[in-house]
Amino acid sequence: MFDFFAQEIEYLKGVGPARANILRSEAKVRTYGDLLNYFPFRYVEKGDFVGIGQIHDDRNPVAIKGKIKSVSEVGFGRNKRLVAQMCDETGCIELTWFSGLKWISQQIKPHVQLTAYGKPVVFNHRLGINHPEIEILDASKPIQESGPAIQPVYPTTETMKNKGLTPKALAAITRNLCQQARQSIPEILSPEIVTRYRLLSREESYRQVHHPDSLAFAECARQRLKFEELLLLQLRILRHKMKNAKVKGLVFDKVGDNFLYFFNHNLNFELTGAQKRVVKEIRSDTRTGWQMNRLLQGDVGSGKTIVALMSMLLAVDNGFQACLMAPTEILAKQHYNSISTLLRSMNVRAGLLTGSTAKKDRAILGNLLLEGQMNLLIGTHALLEDAVVFKNLGLVVIDEQHRFGVAQRARLWAKNQIPPHILVMTATPIPRTLGMTLYGDLDVSVIDELPPNRKPVKTVHFTDKDRLKLFSFMRGEIAQGRQIYIVYPLIQESENSDLKDLMDGYESISRAFPLPDYRISIVHGRMKAEDKEFEMQRFKKGETQIMVATTVIEVGVDVPNASVMVIENSERFGLAQLHQLRGRVGRGAEQSYCILMSASRLSGDAKERIDTMVATNDGFKIAEADLKLRGPGDLQGTRQSGLLALKIADIVEDENIMRAARYTATEILQEDPDLQLPKNRLLAIEMQKNGKDNFWAKIS
Ligand code: ADP
Ligand code: MG
Repeated sequence: MFDFFAQEIEYLKGVGPARANILRSEAKVRTYGDLLNYFPFRYVEKGDFVGIGQIHDDRNPVAIKGKIKSVSEVGFGRNKRLVAQMCDETGCIELTWFSGLKWISQQIKPHVQLTAYGKPVVFNHRLGINHPEIEILDASKPIQESGPAIQPVYPTTETMKNKGLTPKALAAITRNLCQQARQSIPEILSPEIVTRYRLLSREESYRQVHHPDSLAFAECARQRLKFEELLLLQLRILRHKMKNAKVKGLVFDKVGDNFLYFFNHNLNFELTGAQKRVVKEIRSDTRTGWQMNRLLQGDVGSGKTIVALMSMLLAVDNGFQACLMAPTEILAKQHYNSISTLLRSMNVRAGLLTGSTAKKDRAILGNLLLEGQMNLLIGTHALLEDAVVFKNLGLVVIDEQHRFGVAQRARLWAKNQIPPHILVMTATPIPRTLGMTLYGDLDVSVIDELPPNRKPVKTVHFTDKDRLKLFSFMRGEIAQGRQIYIVYPLIQESENSDLKDLMDGYESISRAFPLPDYRISIVHGRMKAEDKEFEMQRFKKGETQIMVATTVIEVGVDVPNASVMVIENSERFGLAQLHQLRGRVGRGAEQSYCILMSASRLSGDAKERIDTMVATNDGFKIAEADLKLRGPGDLQGTRQSGLLALKIADIVEDENIMRAARYTATEILQEDPDLQLPKNRLLAIEMQKNGKDNFWAKIS
């Protein structure tokens, strides 16, 4: 079948072999289809230009048109920059470049006519634009004259511009392409869908997105193309899920003695409605005979551990073993300790395995596991070692799963023939849109309710000059019997300068809070596991009032009496981490506080992170802010998944389109699971074209 999209770009009018090479290497554009999907990121409307004299420093980008009056290179070495005066009839403005000077200086010469676009800033009392996007105009024509009313602006690299592939040249090329495309771009969506969402046709959308008749048309075209992209994505995810759901699983068909004994005797609080619901979901999943693949999402402090334990008891009641894997040794020990306490007077045997478990203990543990006498195994990724063999592993619970690499999880899964049920727990809230995508092939449970009587943590931002205020506040809290964490960033546990910050901090705290009135614990990654554990226990038992620590305490640590979290150099932490750290307090009934310390001068992003923390306790809002600040590519795990390499849709902005796409995908697959109906034929072909089924659950 003739496929317009598959044509090599080289043969398109205006391209040729040299430009085709550049397009391939710089923009990954090889075919007509690639070029059609190489979207403008902006449009310029004729008449959009402002007079240079009218520009204010109001942070909105402006488009201007004029002539270069003078150009000069100033500064030396790394400070070298190119400064040009650009003028029109109404005034002059300074354009500055800090990089790419070679190319720029070839283009920007006195008398050259150009358009420039960028954000005006004030520097040294002068108005200017740094690194404007520019387009050199043909000097032989009067300055007013240019192409069609709306010009697309394409992303270009320096190399592309160097070889004449300017945004304008690209516009000319896509114009040729769109002319050729008439009648060659078939509709792939069924007429029902096109009508229901009032979509532009596919062919028209491509035309309008590149060369719109109006900005409104461009917007309609973008909506349609986003919808198509997200629909294909959701179809792939859901199809994968359908296939995956068919993995045979172990059957937990009874609720037995252990579960009930625990529920009736050892649980000393009422489960929240959300916890009950999730336990029910897990029970019904594990009864079906298919493997469970469930993601349990719940904000810090929402009580995921109990849910994990009850699920594990379910496994035990059905004759299976279960394991719980935590990302750090401290957390594994804490789980082991609290689970051992929760299992008091019950006939369920739990063991602990971490990197620092002694060899002879490992041997004993190994035997107990193999013979099935050990019911629950709790540990770190030491659980993944080949020597660890279960008699009949029925359930794997993974806490804070975002901290584990994909390959690591795969090993645990592969351990027996009928795979165990999988429950992954995360406190890192995943924005809903991302959840629909990234975890779209897992079942998701959400604990959206905190245990009763929790007061929201009060968060304040202090700078270094507020330190005395901080100390007197801390004394007041300690006098009321509370405990305090002080956390230092230790991004790389191996960085000596970070460790020095921590030790200096510890010393100054020791001076401000001297013995015998105050006792201080310290925990960091370089300490031996047993020393860390010793200090954690002292703090937990209330023997010390202050815990100076690095982010080793970030996840999971549970000391309800601790009511103050002080975060030093908070500007160096990411939002997700700050939220996790704050989650260490506010676990008891007392009012808790989080104090974000920082330098007084902050970058824009750091300020925004801190402001977000002060403004909200809501994990979802924080995750969304985080996603906006960092972009989805940076979120844990998303990079290796490669799922989010979207061409036009935006995972944060396009939540509504994503919903519609997911709904539609579900509907299509319900009617036609294998996409064999004629009306879905082209959709099926399109899906196969770029379908890498690279999803999370595939690992299992
Ligand atoms: P996370 O979801 O962050 O792992 P945890 O499981 O550590 O939360 O629970 C946080 C604290 O809340 C623990 O001290 C736990 O005992 C307590 N908790 C859990 N569920 C409830 C509940 N339903 N009512 C009261 N306290 C609870
Ligand atoms: Mg936890």
